[in-house]
Amino acid sequence: MTSAISVRGMSKSYGRRQAVRELDLDVGYGEIFAILGPNGAGKSTTIEILEGHRKRDAGQVSVLGEDPGTAGRSWRARIGIVLQESSDFGMLTVLETARMFAKCYGKARAPADLLELVGLASSSGSRVRTLSGGQRRRLDVALGIVATPELLFLDEPTTGFDPEARRQFWDLIRVLADDGTTILLTTHYLEEAAALADRVAVIAGGRVAAVDSPARLTAHTSSAATVRWMEGDEQREEQTDHPTELIRQRSMDGTELAQLTVTRPTLEDAYLRLTGQA
Ligand code: ADP
Repeated sequence: MTSAISVRGMSKSYGRRQAVRELDLDVGYGEIFAILGPNGAGKSTTIEILEGHRKRDAGQVSVLGEDPGTAGRSWRARIGIVLQESSDFGMLTVLETARMFAKCYGKARAPADLLELVGLASSSGSRVRTLSGGQRRRLDVALGIVATPELLFLDEPTTGFDPEARRQFWDLIRVLADDGTTILLTTHYLEEAAALADRVAVIAGGRVAAVDSPARLTAHTSSAATVRWMEGDEQREEQTDHPTELIRQRSMDGTELAQLTVTRPTLEDAYLRLTGQA
């Protein structure tokens, strides 16, 4: 089997609103794969269908070799899910919560090891309701990986994080990926997709607009560099695939190009173009 997730022609409507339209997707084993798109693009609907939490109207879907619409308990034990909303274990401590979850599975990580892994060992005795947002999300991940899933779903995992907490959370995701876990995450943060994902699917209006590595997405959708400089009081600007050549020509007679800059398109430019928000 080549793909951890394979989707062909998947569609889903809520009444007359079509949330997902004939979507195709392939996620390889061991990949960190991001579904990136603006609010309402169909990210959550897609991930919920793949998790087996929502029925699709049409299309073929295979997750770890089974159809999530009909797969049973043994399949469910192989996947981990971190929902957008945390469950409420406010009165329990972090360790008690981890123990409670570990008991639900035959083959579970030892609670203390689990908390060490997600960086919550020093908060073991804290009540869940006293945790910060970032710590709370780490606990959610801990509960999602308690049974060492092969595939982990993360729906908008770092919404509302400060930059420091976000970076720490990314490190945790990388540790899990290095351990061999396949990770599918949804996000509306460009920098999250760029920093974490091996590949990104940009979705807009329920369709996949493009799939590629962050670097290739950026290069493919808009490859030209922008060269800017000043001539007297006038700002000059040219788009080119060969900025070195352009600069060489412009400065051949020894002219100094004042305030010379060369900028490449970013993932943000690619994203805005793909989602039609440019
Ligand atoms: P995203 O996660 O990218 O923000 P969603 O999958 O949540 O997108 O939503 C896609 C579209 O489907 C949106 O237009 C949204 O309003 C609509 N939608 C999502 N969930 C429901 C629901 N339970 N009932 C009706 N419409 C929904």
